[in-house]
Amino acid sequence: MPIVQLGDPGRWTNYHGTGFCRDAARFGLRSGDAQRGRDELAIAAAAVQDWLGRAKAEGKRVRPLGAGWSPSNINICADGWLLHTRRFNRCFRIAQDDVRPGIDAARLMLVEAGALVDEVSDKLEEQGRSLWTSGAGNGQTFAGACATGTHGSMVARGGIQDHVRAVQIVTPQTAYWVEPEAGVMTDDFITAAGAVPLRNEDIFAAAQLPVGSLGIVTAMVVDSVPKFLVRPIQNLRIIDRDALDWLAAGDFRRFSAAYALDRDPAFVQMIVNPYKPFRRPAMLRFLYREEWRPDYPRATPGELGAGYDALSLLGRFLDDYPFARGALLQFAMKRGYASGPDVDDPPVYGSWGEGLDTHRPLAGLFNASVTIDRADLPHVFELACRAYVRHGGSTVMTVRFMERAQGLLAPARFPHNAVIDFDGPRSERTAKAYQAVVDLLDAEGVAFTRHWAKSCRLDAARVAADYGEDLQRWLAARNRLIPDPADRALFRSEVLDGLGLTC
Ligand SMILES: Cc1cc2nc3c(=O)[nH]c(=O)nc-3n(C[C@H](O)[C@H](O)[C@H](O)COP(=O)(O)OP(=O)(O)OC[C@H]3O[C@@H](n4cnc5c(N)ncnc54)[C@H](O)[C@@H]3O)c2cc1C
Repeated sequence: MPIVQLGDPGRWTNYHGTGFCRDAARFGLRSGDAQRGRDELAIAAAAVQDWLGRAKAEGKRVRPLGAGWSPSNINICADGWLLHTRRFNRCFRIAQDDVRPGIDAARLMLVEAGALVDEVSDKLEEQGRSLWTSGAGNGQTFAGACATGTHGSMVARGGIQDHVRAVQIVTPQTAYWVEPEAGVMTDDFITAAGAVPLRNEDIFAAAQLPVGSLGIVTAMVVDSVPKFLVRPIQNLRIIDRDALDWLAAGDFRRFSAAYALDRDPAFVQMIVNPYKPFRRPAMLRFLYREEWRPDYPRATPGELGAGYDALSLLGRFLDDYPFARGALLQFAMKRGYASGPDVDDPPVYGSWGEGLDTHRPLAGLFNASVTIDRADLPHVFELACRAYVRHGGSTVMTVRFMERAQGLLAPARFPHNAVIDFDGPRSERTAKAYQAVVDLLDAEGVAFTRHWAKSCRLDAARVAADYGEDLQRWLAARNRLIPDPADRALFRSEVLDGLGLTC
């Protein structure tokens, strides 16, 4: 029985305590022990469809849950039925005769929706393969991370959803297998997985980043690259204003040569203190990609600099001592950031997965961002720092880089993107300071988008303006997947209604 009820209805709080469901009935989707992935999926798809039918008959809304990480409360539905997918987490190899001609099955893995990014990464690495990017942590479910366009700072890559080649998505009427028009899996495989093939570019691009509104994702086919090593350099350096121009132009090599190694970095990240950003050292992290070799000396996640959120420890302190905000932040940056390995330290190496951490829950986390055209970075960075500081924002600002990501609703929609994150302790003042930043960007006519999962104060008008024609294509795809408005209503929630994605 793949769906079981979990305890009595009651309060459910998301991972970081930013929201709760009042009186939710909780259900768990569980993996079985079938030998073939397609058999598992057929059983799960039928069970999910039956569960959706029961919810509809009882007049309940539903909300699929991944790891419950999203602080935007996109995972909250007041008193509906919650479907925990975390235990539906098996991964399967794909045989060459299960894919269509021209597709290389060895690159692909069949992933049940609740598998953590960490688990997918481990399974791929066991097979000599690797994800090519992911977020800073890896404790999200793969489906949950894709649902909101999770990204890291691999400068030549997009979002995690770019790995997805096919999606099984269960709606109240049909279990679909969504792929691009050229197709990936054979019809025999798809039928055996209990699904109906739907090969369409727009529907696939919608399903890569569904924001929890297109049905219940039960599985994905995930692409990979050969396993590789990364060498991290992590240091504190005072950044020159000119360096922002190099970053804006995509000259990561020059930035790297100035502050770390004279090599092309695969990953560049800069955490700055918005109080005097060019006078106080920034925390820099670079990753240099190397060919895989099995005999590299093993390093601990700490030595590799995995996880970098120790700054969230500051709590209300910064609110209480506004005069000391800049200095306190800098103190925390120095103490909270694993310093090194620096350029002159002995090099350490790890695989992509070894350099990530699953993260601990942090009550009182503030987490927001703006994604901009990388070319606008020098101008926007200074504007953002000034507005944030003037209004008493109490977090560091993290700058990350990525290419345009796949998915109609991908926030990284500029050809080259810079993402400025405001991550740290939650406070009303910090939330207002972030609002002051986005108001100023609007006033200055700067184009930007916001993360679906973070506390970015998005609304339907803004979503419509940011995504324009792509939103209309996404809505058309949604209506194709779930034609009956009564069925669509199952996926409504206060947050998703507010974004204009469910009506
Ligand atoms: C500490 C922290 C660090 C983070 N770091 C980063 C980062 O580096 N980069 C970045 O981009 N983001 C980051 N995020 C955001 C995070 O990646 C997203 O919140 C992500 O969506 C969380 O995945 P999840 O599995 O917890 O999904 P949830 O929060 O459980 O769900 C997210 C959405 O997906 C839907 N959903 C989940 N599973 C399914 C399914 N099977 N079918 C259909 N819909 C589903 C939910 O209903 C909800 O709408 C971070 C968040 C936190 C709290």
